[in-house]
Amino acid sequence: MQQLTFSLEGMIVQEFEQNLDTVSSLDDPHKATQIIAYLVQKHNIKCIEIDEYIKKFKPRYIKALDAEIQRSSDFARAKGRQKDQLLHKLKLKAIKTLEINLGAFTYNLFCPDANGRIDPWTIAYLIYGTYSRNKAVLRERAQLLDLDLQDIRGYEIINSENCCPCCQKLAKKRYNKYNFPELPFHIGCCCSIAPVFTY
Ligand SMILES: [Zn+2]
Ligand SMILES: [Zn+2]
Repeated sequence: MQQLTFSLEGMIVQEFEQNLDTVSSLDDPHKATQIIAYLVQKHNIKCIEIDEYIKKFKPRYIKALDAEIQRSSDFARAKGRQKDQLLHKLKLKAIKTLEINLGAFTYNLFCPDANGRIDPWTIAYLIYGTYSRNKAVLRERAQLLDLDLQDIRGYEIINSENCCPCCQKLAKKRYNKYNFPELPFHIGCCCSIAPVFTY
């Protein structure tokens, strides 16, 4: 199960996690993301799992993008604005080849601004999404155990609409009733769990 660890400069970790806990119970993703983005910038908060994701997948992305550029005869011919648009498309294509890809979030993580700064909203959303998903799954597990339903055979994974290959693969696995799926599978994973009944 993906749990988040943080490294902070101007704030103690415990304090940030308390804030995160309060903010994620707001049930308003937009407001929560806004507050976390503010904290991330103010206290220079780094999420270790996000940094590790970049470290692991950005080199693969660069390689895939290189291959896409080599393969595209249109790109070699294109000029100016058209070339920029084409490059954007090739970047999205390269991201799709990654085993774990977070769509637009991966794009924002891998393409920082001119100062090398990653959009704080992206960081904040990934922190909020992963943290609240993790909490929701723990809550669901406790509720299902509480109910002690005799007819539960196991669990299945419900993939989100834009799921990555990693999640699609894990969703094919069978989970028996004693083997509660460890969700979220990775940062930004939106998969959910549904019980499977014997009747
Ligand atoms: Zn995934
Ligand atoms: Zn997932």
